[in-house]
Amino acid sequence: MIIVMKPYASKEEIRKVEERLIDLGLKPHPIYGEFKTVIGAIGDDRLLKKEHNLFALSGVEEIIPVLKPYKLAGREIKSEDTVIDMGSVKIGKDNPIAVMAGPCAVENAAQLLEVALRVKEAGASILRGGAYKPRTSPYAFQGLAEDGLKMLADVKNETNLLVVTEVLDTRDVEIVARYTDILQIGARNMQNFRLLTECGITNKPVLLKRGLCSTIEEWLMAAEYVLSSGNPNVILCERGIRTFETATRNTVDISAIPVIKELSHLPIVVDPSHGTGNWRFVGAVAKGAVAAGADALMIEVHLDPANAISDGAQSLKPEKFKTLMRELEPVARAVGRRM
Ligand code: PEP
Ligand code: MN
Repeated sequence: MIIVMKPYASKEEIRKVEERLIDLGLKPHPIYGEFKTVIGAIGDDRLLKKEHNLFALSGVEEIIPVLKPYKLAGREIKSEDTVIDMGSVKIGKDNPIAVMAGPCAVENAAQLLEVALRVKEAGASILRGGAYKPRTSPYAFQGLAEDGLKMLADVKNETNLLVVTEVLDTRDVEIVARYTDILQIGARNMQNFRLLTECGITNKPVLLKRGLCSTIEEWLMAAEYVLSSGNPNVILCERGIRTFETATRNTVDISAIPVIKELSHLPIVVDPSHGTGNWRFVGAVAKGAVAAGADALMIEVHLDPANAISDGAQSLKPEKFKTLMRELEPVARAVGRRM
């Protein structure tokens, strides 16, 4: 439920309501507005159903039940769009469309620096690159682990790009958070609830990819794990879902963008690389995503896709990426955004 405080309720009144909720075994999530504060009461539904006479507390104006199963991710509790503020880059609302680009996997230091400089020159503000790779085969390249994280951190220092990389396991959350700016939870781990909670207790933004076979509601419930663990900075990532279609690696659900915008205040990024699995389709889907309201894009770029250790077939060469960035500009403008 949501406890709406009266306009200009005092800090003391808000504190008393929060204390009362904690006494009842619930978790208070205050959201401070310009005039009004609302407090989300999160917890076991059975506790929420009881009558607790919260109206008796001073400063309480209204108590509204939250109908959706995702409480903190939904618009019922927070109607304004969330902006993920990372200083030099802000994602969401009317900020420029942020572009995360780079290789599927960190392969070596020289490659990473070169590709980072090229994507930066083209207008990307965040470097992507996996140091822990979720591979279908246990015999395939699994990533450079901490060495890869160090390379990402070095390139970040050299280029001032922010860095996003995947964390595969709860045991690695601390080390990945130490080296990077955004923790990526991969599609295969979307419902790894322990991992979601572990990322939720860091203060790093979390990029949460949609699971291969997940509904939008399941995806938002996964976001709820991160949010309810205390981390409000979740970026949702549509990366295509499994359908009967085999012409592309996955099927990008473009309609997920407006649906998420309606249901949730969280920003959404689209990954047309994993979505299509084919570099030739990446540009068209990236433009479609921006036109449909995406807040950011994640695109795989490799200096030499033919010899990439992973996902070469879906990686753009730097010059193709640069052309795409130019082509995205008028699309963004057409929908009232900027690149
Ligand atoms: C990735 O971004 O490198 C990746 C493995 O993506 P996904 O989890 O979407 O497959
Ligand atoms: Mn990849």
